Amino acid sequence: MNLPNTRVSFDLIIVGAGPAGLSFARSMADTGLQIALIERLDEAAIADPAFDGREIALTQTSIEHLRQLGIWKHIDADAISPLRDAAVENGRGRSLLQIDHRMGTHDELGMLVANHQIRRAAYRAVREQTNVSWFTGAAVSAVDCGETRARVRLDDNRLLDAALVVAVDSRFSETRRMLGIPARSVDFGKTMLVCNMEHTEPHAHVARECFEFGYTAALLPRNGNSSSVVITQRGEDISRLMAMDETEFARTIEHLLRHRLGTMQLRSTRHAYPLVAVYADRFVARRYAVIGDAAVGMHPVTAHGFNFGLSGQALLAEEIRNSLRTGRDIGNAEGLARYQSRHRRATLPLYLTTNAIAKLFTDDRLPARFARDTALRVAERLSPFKRAVVGTLTRGSARSVLPRIRPAS
Ligand SMILES: Cc1cc2nc3c(=O)[nH]c(=O)nc-3n(C[C@H](O)[C@H](O)[C@H](O)COP(=O)(O)OP(=O)(O)OC[C@H]3O[C@@H](n4cnc5c(N)ncnc54)[C@H](O)[C@@H]3O)c2cc1C
Repeated sequence: MNLPNTRVSFDLIIVGAGPAGLSFARSMADTGLQIALIERLDEAAIADPAFDGREIALTQTSIEHLRQLGIWKHIDADAISPLRDAAVENGRGRSLLQIDHRMGTHDELGMLVANHQIRRAAYRAVREQTNVSWFTGAAVSAVDCGETRARVRLDDNRLLDAALVVAVDSRFSETRRMLGIPARSVDFGKTMLVCNMEHTEPHAHVARECFEFGYTAALLPRNGNSSSVVITQRGEDISRLMAMDETEFARTIEHLLRHRLGTMQLRSTRHAYPLVAVYADRFVARRYAVIGDAAVGMHPVTAHGFNFGLSGQALLAEEIRNSLRTGRDIGNAEGLARYQSRHRRATLPLYLTTNAIAKLFTDDRLPARFARDTALRVAERLSPFKRAVVGTLTRGSARSVLPRIRPAS
Protein backbone atom coordinates (compact mmCIF):
# COMPACT_ATOMS: atom_id res chain seq x y z
CA MET A 1 0.00 0.00 0.00
CA ASN A 2 1.31 3.49 -0.83
CA LEU A 3 1.44 5.87 2.12
CA PRO A 4 0.05 9.36 1.48
CA ASN A 5 2.71 11.90 0.44
CA THR A 6 3.62 14.29 3.22
CA ARG A 7 6.49 16.06 1.43
CA VAL A 8 5.51 19.38 -0.12
CA SER A 9 8.87 20.79 -1.25
CA PHE A 10 10.55 19.30 -4.31
CA ASP A 11 13.24 20.11 -6.85
CA LEU A 12 11.03 19.35 -9.80
CA ILE A 13 7.28 19.00 -10.35
CA ILE A 14 6.07 17.07 -13.42
CA VAL A 15 2.41 17.52 -14.34
CA GLY A 16 1.07 14.59 -16.39
CA ALA A 17 2.08 10.92 -16.36
CA GLY A 18 1.37 10.23 -20.03
CA PRO A 19 4.10 8.60 -22.14
CA ALA A 20 6.13 11.83 -22.49
CA GLY A 21 5.83 12.81 -18.80
CA LEU A 22 6.89 9.35 -17.66
CA SER A 23 9.81 9.32 -20.11
CA PHE A 24 10.97 12.65 -18.71
CA ALA A 25 10.72 11.36 -15.12
CA ARG A 26 12.86 8.44 -16.27
CA SER A 27 15.44 10.83 -17.74
CA MET A 28 15.75 12.37 -14.29
CA ALA A 29 16.27 8.99 -12.57
CA ASP A 30 19.89 9.36 -11.56
CA THR A 31 20.04 13.13 -11.03
CA GLY A 32 19.38 13.01 -7.29
CA LEU A 33 16.52 15.47 -7.81
CA GLN A 34 13.39 14.99 -5.71
CA ILE A 35 10.44 14.87 -8.10
CA ALA A 36 6.67 15.23 -7.60
CA LEU A 37 4.73 13.51 -10.39
CA ILE A 38 1.13 14.71 -10.56
CA GLU A 39 -1.46 12.84 -12.60
CA ARG A 40 -5.20 13.33 -12.80
CA LEU A 41 -5.91 9.63 -13.43
CA ASP A 42 -5.91 7.07 -10.64
CA GLU A 43 -2.82 4.95 -10.17
CA ALA A 44 -4.60 1.81 -11.48
CA ALA A 45 -5.37 3.56 -14.78
CA ILE A 46 -1.72 4.43 -15.39
CA ALA A 47 -0.29 1.17 -14.05
CA ASP A 48 -2.44 -0.87 -16.43
CA PRO A 49 -3.78 1.52 -19.07
CA ALA A 50 -6.61 0.40 -21.32
CA PHE A 51 -6.14 0.01 -25.10
CA ASP A 52 -6.83 3.41 -26.66
CA GLY A 53 -6.63 2.48 -30.35
CA ARG A 54 -3.34 4.24 -31.02
CA GLU A 55 -0.49 2.26 -32.51
CA ILE A 56 2.62 4.41 -32.27
CA ALA A 57 5.11 4.27 -35.13
CA LEU A 58 8.46 4.71 -33.39
CA THR A 59 11.53 5.86 -35.29
CA GLN A 60 14.83 4.06 -34.70
CA THR A 61 16.00 7.14 -32.77
CA SER A 62 13.01 6.88 -30.42
CA ILE A 63 13.59 3.15 -29.91
CA GLU A 64 17.15 3.98 -28.88
CA HIS A 65 15.81 6.66 -26.49
CA LEU A 66 13.40 4.14 -24.92
CA ARG A 67 16.18 1.55 -24.59
CA GLN A 68 18.47 3.99 -22.81
CA LEU A 69 15.65 5.14 -20.54
CA GLY A 70 15.08 1.51 -19.44
CA ILE A 71 11.53 1.56 -20.82
CA TRP A 72 11.96 -0.65 -23.90
CA LYS A 73 12.82 -3.76 -21.81
CA HIS A 74 9.37 -3.57 -20.19
CA ILE A 75 7.56 -3.92 -23.55
CA ASP A 76 6.71 -7.54 -24.43
CA ALA A 77 8.56 -8.69 -27.57
CA ASP A 78 5.32 -9.84 -29.21
CA ALA A 79 3.81 -6.37 -28.74
CA ILE A 80 6.47 -4.89 -31.05
CA SER A 81 5.80 -5.07 -34.80
CA PRO A 82 8.42 -4.18 -37.41
CA LEU A 83 7.46 -1.43 -39.82
CA ARG A 84 9.58 -2.41 -42.80
CA ASP A 85 8.52 -0.12 -45.65
CA ALA A 86 5.89 2.53 -46.36
CA ALA A 87 3.77 3.34 -49.39
CA VAL A 88 1.41 6.12 -50.35
CA GLU A 89 -1.41 5.20 -52.69
CA ASN A 90 -4.06 7.23 -54.44
CA GLY A 91 -7.78 6.51 -54.76
CA ARG A 92 -7.39 3.87 -57.46
CA GLY A 93 -5.01 1.79 -55.33
CA ARG A 94 -2.06 2.92 -57.45
CA SER A 95 1.20 3.37 -55.54
CA LEU A 96 2.50 6.93 -55.87
CA LEU A 97 5.38 6.88 -53.42
CA GLN A 98 7.32 4.02 -51.86
CA ILE A 99 9.75 4.36 -48.98
CA ASP A 100 12.04 1.34 -48.77
CA HIS A 101 14.00 0.56 -45.59
CA ARG A 102 16.97 -0.53 -47.76
CA MET A 103 17.69 3.15 -48.37
CA GLY A 104 18.63 3.37 -44.69
CA THR A 105 20.82 1.46 -42.26
CA HIS A 106 18.30 -0.78 -40.46
CA ASP A 107 16.20 -3.81 -41.40
CA GLU A 108 13.07 -1.72 -40.95
CA LEU A 109 12.02 1.96 -40.90
CA GLY A 110 10.83 1.71 -37.32
CA MET A 111 8.63 -0.30 -34.97
CA LEU A 112 4.97 -0.18 -34.10
CA VAL A 113 3.91 -0.40 -30.44
CA ALA A 114 0.45 0.30 -29.00
CA ASN A 115 0.28 3.51 -26.98
CA HIS A 116 -1.07 1.75 -23.87
CA GLN A 117 1.87 -0.69 -23.98
CA ILE A 118 4.34 2.22 -24.05
CA ARG A 119 2.52 3.87 -21.14
CA ARG A 120 2.54 0.66 -19.11
CA ALA A 121 6.25 0.07 -19.77
CA ALA A 122 7.13 3.66 -18.88
CA TYR A 123 5.11 3.41 -15.66
CA ARG A 124 7.00 0.25 -14.66
CA ALA A 125 10.35 1.91 -15.31
CA VAL A 126 9.48 5.03 -13.29
CA ARG A 127 8.10 2.89 -10.44
CA GLU A 128 11.68 1.58 -10.00
CA GLN A 129 12.86 5.09 -9.10
CA THR A 130 13.21 6.14 -5.48
CA ASN A 131 13.29 9.89 -6.21
CA VAL A 132 9.68 10.17 -7.44
CA SER A 133 6.70 10.96 -5.17
CA TRP A 134 3.42 10.12 -6.89
CA PHE A 135 0.33 12.30 -6.65
CA THR A 136 -2.24 10.31 -8.62
CA GLY A 137 -5.96 10.98 -8.84
CA ALA A 138 -4.97 14.62 -8.36
CA ALA A 139 -5.24 17.44 -10.88
CA VAL A 140 -3.45 20.78 -10.85
CA SER A 141 -5.88 23.60 -10.16
CA ALA A 142 -3.43 26.56 -9.97
CA VAL A 143 0.20 27.36 -10.83
CA ASP A 144 2.21 30.31 -9.59
CA CYS A 145 5.77 30.64 -10.88
CA GLY A 146 7.70 33.11 -8.71
CA GLU A 147 11.23 34.52 -8.74
CA THR A 148 12.71 31.82 -6.50
CA ARG A 149 10.14 28.99 -6.38
CA ALA A 150 7.20 27.68 -8.42
CA ARG A 151 4.04 26.65 -6.58
CA VAL A 152 1.35 24.22 -7.70
CA ARG A 153 -2.03 23.77 -6.04
CA LEU A 154 -3.83 20.44 -6.37
CA ASP A 155 -7.61 20.15 -6.61
CA ASP A 156 -7.68 18.71 -3.07
CA ASN A 157 -6.02 21.97 -1.95
CA ARG A 158 -2.55 20.58 -1.25
CA LEU A 159 0.21 23.06 -2.14
CA LEU A 160 3.55 21.83 -3.57
CA ASP A 161 6.60 23.87 -4.50
CA ALA A 162 9.74 23.29 -6.57
CA ALA A 163 12.50 25.03 -8.52
CA LEU A 164 10.88 24.05 -11.82
CA VAL A 165 7.49 22.87 -13.08
CA VAL A 166 7.47 20.76 -16.26
CA ALA A 167 4.01 20.41 -17.79
CA VAL A 168 3.25 17.36 -19.91
CA ASP A 169 -0.49 17.72 -19.53
CA SER A 170 -1.69 17.08 -23.12
CA ARG A 171 -2.14 19.29 -26.18
CA PHE A 172 -4.98 21.07 -24.35
CA SER A 173 -2.65 21.84 -21.43
CA GLU A 174 -4.52 23.54 -18.61
CA THR A 175 -1.37 24.75 -16.84
CA ARG A 176 -0.17 26.41 -20.08
CA ARG A 177 -3.43 28.33 -20.15
CA MET A 178 -3.22 29.12 -16.41
CA LEU A 179 0.09 30.86 -17.14
CA GLY A 180 -1.36 32.74 -20.10
CA ILE A 181 0.80 31.06 -22.75
CA PRO A 182 -1.13 31.11 -26.04
CA ALA A 183 -1.05 28.20 -28.48
CA ARG A 184 -1.91 28.11 -32.19
CA SER A 185 -4.28 25.31 -33.03
CA VAL A 186 -5.45 24.02 -36.37
CA ASP A 187 -8.79 22.20 -36.42
CA PHE A 188 -8.84 20.01 -39.54
CA GLY A 189 -12.59 19.50 -39.23
CA LYS A 190 -12.09 15.74 -39.49
CA THR A 191 -12.14 12.84 -37.07
CA MET A 192 -9.89 9.79 -36.99
CA LEU A 193 -11.22 6.33 -36.18
CA VAL A 194 -8.65 3.77 -35.02
CA CYS A 195 -9.01 0.07 -34.28
CA ASN A 196 -7.26 -3.27 -34.82
CA MET A 197 -8.52 -5.70 -37.45
CA GLU A 198 -7.48 -9.14 -38.72
CA HIS A 199 -7.48 -9.86 -42.43
CA THR A 200 -6.96 -12.70 -44.88
CA GLU A 201 -4.35 -11.00 -47.10
CA PRO A 202 -0.79 -10.39 -45.80
CA HIS A 203 0.49 -6.84 -45.25
CA ALA A 204 4.21 -7.68 -45.72
CA HIS A 205 4.92 -5.21 -42.87
CA VAL A 206 4.34 -2.27 -45.17
CA ALA A 207 2.54 0.79 -43.75
CA ARG A 208 0.12 2.24 -46.28
CA GLU A 209 -1.49 5.64 -46.51
CA CYS A 210 -4.37 5.58 -49.00
CA PHE A 211 -5.94 8.82 -50.20
CA GLU A 212 -9.48 8.18 -51.37
CA PHE A 213 -12.29 10.48 -52.37
CA GLY A 214 -13.90 11.78 -49.14
CA TYR A 215 -11.66 9.89 -46.72
CA THR A 216 -8.15 8.64 -46.10
CA ALA A 217 -7.20 5.20 -44.79
CA ALA A 218 -3.93 4.32 -43.11
CA LEU A 219 -2.95 0.71 -42.52
CA LEU A 220 -0.26 0.01 -39.96
CA PRO A 221 1.09 -3.56 -39.95
CA ARG A 222 0.90 -5.48 -36.67
CA ASN A 223 2.37 -8.95 -36.15
CA GLY A 224 0.45 -11.70 -37.97
CA ASN A 225 -2.35 -10.89 -40.39
CA SER A 226 -3.43 -7.94 -38.29
CA SER A 227 -3.37 -4.19 -38.87
CA SER A 228 -4.19 -0.99 -37.11
CA VAL A 229 -6.81 0.60 -39.35
CA VAL A 230 -7.04 4.39 -39.29
CA ILE A 231 -9.92 6.07 -41.15
CA THR A 232 -10.05 9.88 -41.39
CA GLN A 233 -13.41 11.33 -42.39
CA ARG A 234 -16.00 13.95 -41.47
CA GLY A 235 -17.20 13.63 -37.88
CA GLU A 236 -20.69 12.45 -38.81
CA ASP A 237 -19.34 9.69 -41.07
CA ILE A 238 -17.07 8.49 -38.26
CA SER A 239 -20.02 8.51 -35.84
CA ARG A 240 -21.87 6.21 -38.25
CA LEU A 241 -18.86 3.85 -38.41
CA MET A 242 -18.60 3.84 -34.61
CA ALA A 243 -22.29 2.93 -34.27
CA MET A 244 -22.27 -0.02 -36.73
CA ASP A 245 -22.35 -3.58 -35.45
CA GLU A 246 -19.11 -5.53 -35.94
CA THR A 247 -20.19 -7.34 -39.11
CA GLU A 248 -21.48 -4.25 -40.89
CA PHE A 249 -18.37 -2.36 -39.76
CA ALA A 250 -16.01 -5.03 -41.13
CA ARG A 251 -17.82 -5.14 -44.52
CA THR A 252 -17.77 -1.33 -44.72
CA ILE A 253 -14.03 -1.17 -43.95
CA GLU A 254 -13.29 -3.86 -46.56
CA HIS A 255 -15.14 -1.71 -49.08
CA LEU A 256 -13.40 1.52 -47.97
CA LEU A 257 -10.02 -0.26 -48.32
CA ARG A 258 -11.00 -1.60 -51.79
CA HIS A 259 -10.44 -5.12 -50.42
CA ARG A 260 -6.67 -4.52 -50.23
CA LEU A 261 -6.43 -6.81 -47.19
CA GLY A 262 -9.16 -9.32 -48.15
CA THR A 263 -11.85 -10.32 -45.65
CA MET A 264 -11.56 -8.44 -42.36
CA GLN A 265 -12.67 -8.83 -38.76
CA LEU A 266 -12.76 -6.28 -35.96
CA ARG A 267 -10.43 -7.34 -33.14
CA SER A 268 -10.52 -4.40 -30.72
CA THR A 269 -12.62 -1.56 -29.44
CA ARG A 270 -12.99 1.43 -31.80
CA HIS A 271 -11.71 4.88 -30.80
CA ALA A 272 -12.36 8.28 -32.36
CA TYR A 273 -10.02 11.30 -32.16
CA PRO A 274 -10.99 14.76 -33.47
CA LEU A 275 -8.06 16.12 -35.50
CA VAL A 276 -6.64 19.24 -33.89
CA ALA A 277 -2.95 20.16 -34.11
CA VAL A 278 -1.50 22.54 -31.50
CA TYR A 279 1.77 24.46 -31.26
CA ALA A 280 2.50 26.52 -28.13
CA ASP A 281 3.68 30.09 -28.76
CA ARG A 282 6.28 29.61 -26.04
CA PHE A 283 7.65 26.41 -24.51
CA VAL A 284 8.93 28.12 -21.36
CA ALA A 285 8.06 30.76 -18.79
CA ARG A 286 9.62 31.65 -15.46
CA ARG A 287 10.38 28.31 -13.72
CA TYR A 288 8.06 26.53 -16.12
CA ALA A 289 8.46 24.44 -19.31
CA VAL A 290 6.11 22.43 -21.51
CA ILE A 291 7.14 19.22 -23.26
CA GLY A 292 5.26 16.44 -25.10
CA ASP A 293 1.94 17.28 -26.74
CA ALA A 294 1.65 20.32 -24.43
CA ALA A 295 4.45 21.88 -26.51
CA VAL A 296 3.83 20.30 -29.93
CA GLY A 297 0.57 18.46 -30.60
CA MET A 298 1.07 16.98 -34.06
CA HIS A 299 -1.47 15.79 -36.64
CA PRO A 300 -0.85 12.00 -36.59
CA VAL A 301 -0.39 11.65 -40.38
CA THR A 302 3.41 11.89 -40.20
CA ALA A 303 3.53 9.87 -36.93
CA HIS A 304 5.77 12.30 -35.08
CA GLY A 305 3.85 13.28 -31.90
CA PHE A 306 5.43 10.95 -29.37
CA ASN A 307 8.70 10.86 -31.32
CA PHE A 308 8.91 14.63 -30.77
CA GLY A 309 7.80 14.13 -27.16
CA LEU A 310 10.83 11.92 -26.60
CA SER A 311 13.33 14.19 -28.33
CA GLY A 312 11.94 17.30 -26.55
CA GLN A 313 12.15 15.75 -23.09
CA ALA A 314 15.74 14.68 -23.86
CA LEU A 315 16.67 18.28 -24.74
CA LEU A 316 15.17 19.64 -21.52
CA ALA A 317 16.81 16.85 -19.51
CA GLU A 318 20.16 17.80 -21.04
CA GLU A 319 19.73 21.44 -19.92
CA ILE A 320 18.82 20.34 -16.39
CA ARG A 321 21.88 18.09 -16.24
CA ASN A 322 24.10 20.94 -17.45
CA SER A 323 22.71 23.16 -14.69
CA LEU A 324 23.35 20.48 -12.07
CA ARG A 325 26.89 19.92 -13.35
CA THR A 326 27.72 23.62 -13.15
CA GLY A 327 25.99 24.15 -9.80
CA ARG A 328 23.24 26.32 -11.26
CA ASP A 329 19.56 26.53 -10.38
CA ILE A 330 17.67 23.97 -12.57
CA GLY A 331 15.02 26.58 -13.31
CA ASN A 332 17.53 29.11 -14.68
CA ALA A 333 16.13 31.15 -17.54
CA GLU A 334 19.09 30.64 -19.93
CA GLY A 335 18.83 26.85 -19.80
CA LEU A 336 15.08 26.96 -20.38
CA ALA A 337 15.52 29.39 -23.29
CA ARG A 338 18.09 27.07 -24.88
CA TYR A 339 15.68 24.12 -24.59
CA GLN A 340 12.94 26.23 -26.17
CA SER A 341 15.02 27.36 -29.12
CA ARG A 342 16.46 23.90 -29.85
CA HIS A 343 13.08 22.16 -29.61
CA ARG A 344 11.36 24.78 -31.79
CA ARG A 345 14.08 24.47 -34.41
CA ALA A 346 13.69 20.69 -34.38
CA THR A 347 9.88 20.67 -34.61
CA LEU A 348 8.46 23.77 -36.30
CA PRO A 349 9.39 22.91 -39.93
CA LEU A 350 7.87 19.42 -39.68
CA TYR A 351 4.83 20.74 -37.80
CA LEU A 352 4.08 23.22 -40.59
CA THR A 353 4.83 20.70 -43.35
CA THR A 354 2.62 18.08 -41.69
CA ASN A 355 -0.30 20.52 -41.47
CA ALA A 356 0.14 21.46 -45.13
CA ILE A 357 0.26 17.78 -46.14
CA ALA A 358 -2.79 16.98 -44.01
CA LYS A 359 -4.76 19.80 -45.64
CA LEU A 360 -3.66 18.99 -49.18
CA PHE A 361 -4.37 15.31 -48.78
CA THR A 362 -7.85 15.68 -47.32
CA ASP A 363 -8.97 18.26 -49.88
CA ASP A 364 -11.07 16.53 -52.54
CA ARG A 365 -11.27 19.47 -54.91
CA LEU A 366 -9.73 18.73 -58.29
CA PRO A 367 -6.77 21.17 -58.11
CA ALA A 368 -5.71 19.72 -54.73
CA ARG A 369 -6.00 16.14 -56.02
CA PHE A 370 -3.93 17.05 -59.05
CA ALA A 371 -1.34 18.86 -56.87
CA ARG A 372 -0.87 15.92 -54.51
CA ASP A 373 -0.61 13.30 -57.26
CA THR A 374 2.01 15.47 -58.95
CA ALA A 375 3.88 16.10 -55.67
CA LEU A 376 3.97 12.38 -54.89
CA ARG A 377 5.14 11.44 -58.39
CA VAL A 378 7.93 14.01 -58.17
CA ALA A 379 8.90 12.76 -54.69
CA GLU A 380 8.89 9.16 -55.97
CA ARG A 381 11.51 10.07 -58.59
CA LEU A 382 13.69 12.02 -56.14
CA SER A 383 15.89 9.45 -54.48
CA PRO A 384 17.69 12.11 -52.35
CA PHE A 385 14.29 13.08 -50.93
CA LYS A 386 13.40 9.48 -50.16
CA ARG A 387 16.83 8.85 -48.65
CA ALA A 388 16.31 11.91 -46.44
CA VAL A 389 12.95 10.55 -45.22
CA VAL A 390 14.49 7.16 -44.46
CA GLY A 391 17.42 8.92 -42.78
CA THR A 392 15.06 10.90 -40.53
CA LEU A 393 13.38 7.70 -39.42
CA THR A 394 16.39 5.46 -39.02
CA ARG A 395 19.33 7.65 -38.17
CA GLY A 396 19.38 10.09 -35.33
CA SER A 397 21.15 11.79 -32.55
CA ALA A 398 19.76 9.84 -29.63
CA ARG A 399 23.23 9.21 -28.26
CA SER A 400 24.32 12.79 -28.42
CA VAL A 401 21.31 14.23 -26.57
CA LEU A 402 20.59 11.40 -24.17
CA PRO A 403 21.83 11.14 -20.64
CA ARG A 404 22.99 7.71 -19.50
CA ILE A 405 20.48 6.21 -17.09
CA ARG A 406 21.77 3.76 -14.55
CA PRO A 407 19.45 0.73 -14.49
CA ALA A 408 16.86 0.50 -11.72
CA SER A 409 17.99 3.58 -9.83
C1 LIG B 1 -4.74 8.36 -33.55
C2 LIG B 1 -3.37 8.77 -33.11
C3 LIG B 1 -2.25 8.15 -33.65
C4 LIG B 1 -0.96 8.55 -33.28
N1 LIG B 1 0.12 7.95 -33.84
C5 LIG B 1 1.36 8.34 -33.50
C6 LIG B 1 2.51 7.71 -34.10
O1 LIG B 1 2.40 6.82 -34.95
N2 LIG B 1 3.75 8.15 -33.72
C7 LIG B 1 3.92 9.14 -32.79
O2 LIG B 1 5.07 9.48 -32.47
N3 LIG B 1 2.85 9.73 -32.19
C8 LIG B 1 1.59 9.36 -32.53
N4 LIG B 1 0.51 9.95 -31.95
C9 LIG B 1 0.74 11.01 -30.92
C10 LIG B 1 0.97 10.43 -29.51
O3 LIG B 1 -0.08 9.59 -29.15
C11 LIG B 1 1.07 11.62 -28.55
O4 LIG B 1 2.07 12.50 -29.01
C12 LIG B 1 1.45 11.18 -27.12
O5 LIG B 1 0.55 10.25 -26.62
C13 LIG B 1 1.44 12.42 -26.21
O6 LIG B 1 1.91 12.07 -24.94
P1 LIG B 1 1.92 13.14 -23.75
O7 LIG B 1 2.49 12.41 -22.59
O8 LIG B 1 2.56 14.40 -24.20
O9 LIG B 1 0.40 13.54 -23.52
P2 LIG B 1 -0.87 12.70 -23.10
O10 LIG B 1 -0.78 11.28 -23.56
O11 LIG B 1 -2.04 13.50 -23.58
O12 LIG B 1 -0.84 12.65 -21.51
C14 LIG B 1 -1.14 13.78 -20.71
C15 LIG B 1 -1.38 13.31 -19.28
O13 LIG B 1 -1.56 14.46 -18.45
C16 LIG B 1 -2.64 14.24 -17.56
N5 LIG B 1 -3.20 15.58 -17.20
C17 LIG B 1 -3.79 16.48 -18.02
N6 LIG B 1 -4.13 17.61 -17.35
C18 LIG B 1 -3.74 17.41 -16.06
C19 LIG B 1 -3.81 18.21 -14.89
N7 LIG B 1 -4.35 19.45 -14.88
N8 LIG B 1 -3.33 17.69 -13.72
C20 LIG B 1 -2.78 16.45 -13.70
N9 LIG B 1 -2.68 15.66 -14.79
C21 LIG B 1 -3.15 16.12 -15.96
C22 LIG B 1 -3.61 13.38 -18.35
O14 LIG B 1 -4.48 12.64 -17.52
C23 LIG B 1 -2.64 12.48 -19.13
O15 LIG B 1 -2.33 11.28 -18.44
C24 LIG B 1 -0.79 9.59 -32.32
C25 LIG B 1 -1.92 10.22 -31.76
C26 LIG B 1 -3.19 9.81 -32.15
C27 LIG B 1 -4.39 10.50 -31.56
